[in-house]
Amino acid sequence: MKFSTLYRSGKFGLSFELFPPKTAVGDMALIRHVKELMKFGPDIITCTYAAGGSTRGKTLDVATRVHATHHVSVASHLTCLASSVDQLREYLDEAAQRGIENIVALRGDPPQNESRFVPTKGGLCHANELVTLIRTEFPHFGIAVAGYPEKHREAPSMEVDLANLKRKVDAGADAILSQLFYDNEDFFRFRDRCGTLGIEVPIVPGLLPVTKFQQVQRITSLCGAKMPGDFLQALQAQQDHPQAQAEIGIEYAIQQTQNLIHAGVPGIHFYVLNMSQAATQVLQSVSRPG
Ligand SMILES: Cc1cc2nc3c(=O)[nH]c(=O)nc-3n(C[C@H](O)[C@H](O)[C@H](O)COP(=O)(O)OP(=O)(O)OC[C@H]3O[C@@H](n4cnc5c(N)ncnc54)[C@H](O)[C@@H]3O)c2cc1C
Repeated sequence: MKFSTLYRSGKFGLSFELFPPKTAVGDMALIRHVKELMKFGPDIITCTYAAGGSTRGKTLDVATRVHATHHVSVASHLTCLASSVDQLREYLDEAAQRGIENIVALRGDPPQNESRFVPTKGGLCHANELVTLIRTEFPHFGIAVAGYPEKHREAPSMEVDLANLKRKVDAGADAILSQLFYDNEDFFRFRDRCGTLGIEVPIVPGLLPVTKFQQVQRITSLCGAKMPGDFLQALQAQQDHPQAQAEIGIEYAIQQTQNLIHAGVPGIHFYVLNMSQAATQVLQSVSRPG
């Protein structure tokens, strides 16, 4: 299944995002959790990409293994960071050889101690250029790109960010996977504004159910997603009670997911952080369209 056909078929598209584990223990745990997640019949499982070193190959290894074990379609994320165009081509070649049908095409974040993205010599500056490269030279891939309901951190305004999102779609992206968010109104506004600009590809909300407050605080501070006041206060009141945090977070995610489904979203992309419990509880509690 490719991003190009999945949402357009009228089927509700369910996808899970994994990351390459750093240890053998993490690898074993991932196998267990993916088996649990497969009970919900995901359409596509994606695996994130970190530029450089062994993690680059690890993305392909995880995607290939999930595909071979569960016969589910997979997507490799790919970023422009630290790669020349030739290296990107090599990666795409290998992904195709391994039976990977989809690419989530991204620019990538600047490395931890750097404040801005610096393109590699002979590399690309923005994700729209990566989409163009894939569409032109590897047209068989389905392509998804990132969209930001609360604006990308570096963009000077929502207008500019949406114009840049449109470049990615015009370059040939099949679908938009959103950055995580906790206020559905942000997503609906974003979706409406995309529509006004003539962005017609499916826009899929990305959700990260809160199970560990501190962990999610760290993630949201990096990506700039805000938490609605009531939700934040409820979690803050349970700083020292992990079980209560997870209960509040899952209940919130259930309501958020159900509300998005009622609003007719084409699918949901869950940031599962290589775990299955939260997505399991959410998916067991909502009614998904067929
Ligand atoms: C669903 C999803 C999956 C992700 N997976 C990964 C992953 O696997 N690995 C990883 O490292 N990171 C990942 N990220 C994070 C992502 O790499 C960062 O958010 C990064 O800062 C921006 O990537 P992008 O593809 O949106 O970049 P771009 O679309 O290139 O946008 C980056 C910034 O540049 C601006 N811009 C875009 N195009 C142009 C242009 N042509 N001219 C001028 N300005 C422009 C945009 O407005 C924005 O401010 C993911 C994010 C999401 C939402």
